[in-house]
Amino acid sequence: MTTPSFNPPIRTLMGPGPSDVHPRILEALSRPTIGHLDPVFIEMMEQIKGLLQYAFQTENPLTMPVSAPGSAGMETCFVNLVEPGDKVIVCQNGVFGGRMKENVERCGGTPIMVEDEWGKAVDLAKVEAALEQHGDARILAFVHAETSTGARADTKELVELAHRHDCLTIVDSVTSLGGCELKVDEWDIDAIYSGTQKCLSCTPGISPVSFNERALQKVRKRSSKVQSWFLDLNLVMGYWGSGQKRAYHHTAPVNSLYGLHESLVMLQDEGLEKAWARHRKMHDALKAGLEAMGINFIVDEAHRLPMLNAVSIPEGVDDASVRSRLLSEYNLEIGAGLGALAGKVWRIGLMGYSAKPENVLLCVGALEAVLTEMNAPINTDVALGKVQHELL
Ligand SMILES: *Cc1c(COP(=O)(O)O)cnc(C)c1O
Repeated sequence: MTTPSFNPPIRTLMGPGPSDVHPRILEALSRPTIGHLDPVFIEMMEQIKGLLQYAFQTENPLTMPVSAPGSAGMETCFVNLVEPGDKVIVCQNGVFGGRMKENVERCGGTPIMVEDEWGKAVDLAKVEAALEQHGDARILAFVHAETSTGARADTKELVELAHRHDCLTIVDSVTSLGGCELKVDEWDIDAIYSGTQKCLSCTPGISPVSFNERALQKVRKRSSKVQSWFLDLNLVMGYWGSGQKRAYHHTAPVNSLYGLHESLVMLQDEGLEKAWARHRKMHDALKAGLEAMGINFIVDEAHRLPMLNAVSIPEGVDDASVRSRLLSEYNLEIGAGLGALAGKVWRIGLMGYSAKPENVLLCVGALEAVLTEMNAPINTDVALGKVQHELL
């Protein structure tokens, strides 16, 4: 028996990532592979840096894609900035703040946790109290868009607080980049990482990062070596640094970078603010439909993310069987709850190319059909009209 080729089904991806990948990006991925030190490739690398500066709204020269998924962007920030003995204030109101804590510990640092309930935004007053109590803290780390709950952090205000207390900031923007307002220079964020498979609608496996001069100074002043060889920025910059003189560090994922380039060109063509507005509009349409059915959001309106919609599962409804029917009957993927929210919420993603009218109609229509058939306690025959009205 020979193993046949793998042909995945065509799905609509409305979970917490990956999101639907635009055909233009899939086509770009299949272009001929060239050498990663080829002068033509290096020219494209320079364009990627410029396009990422636009997406992050920064002029930081150190703005580049790490050759690994969002989690590696997270590690890049922590391993370069945290030295053994450093105190780091970490905000946790979901899964990803917990990973930041793990990172600090593995770097030999001491995490000071500021915890909020899952689904709530990071509490500024608690962060201020922690900064005052721990005057020797060096860094404040938090998640801009908490994908496990759909809560947005008040990023500009948190960065201001940190700087008033002489702390650098590490910001997780894996889910926010390209999907909602994010201004690295204007908000004065020191180190930030993101991912390609959420609102950039590219394939998973690449992590854009950006460091400002203040953050780089901390890296340069380290008294110990960065413990990760692969993620040590001093070494990575030999390859991604400026100019045409590049040294081999690792073999860049050549075709994946074609895909990232294409996705960033598409973002530039649409315009960053238009992309943010599109995510908002699709969120409003989805919300109108779900609320008409009687399905409610868990995050307060002011801190609700447009690209990650966490909603309560109606009483008595079996989470897993709804999701499996959506997948098998409608080729539609939505996300399950994580950790404290497992079995209690669905996470509906409207990320990048997935944030479009036909997806909202499909999701609301399919969910209503499945729930109606299960005799779930929802209002029927009203949701799609509300969605259509919002999309006009
Ligand atoms: C998805 C995600 C990550 C991790 O990205 P991977 O590409 O899965 O490694 C980190 N932080 C947040 C907020 C995310 O949503």
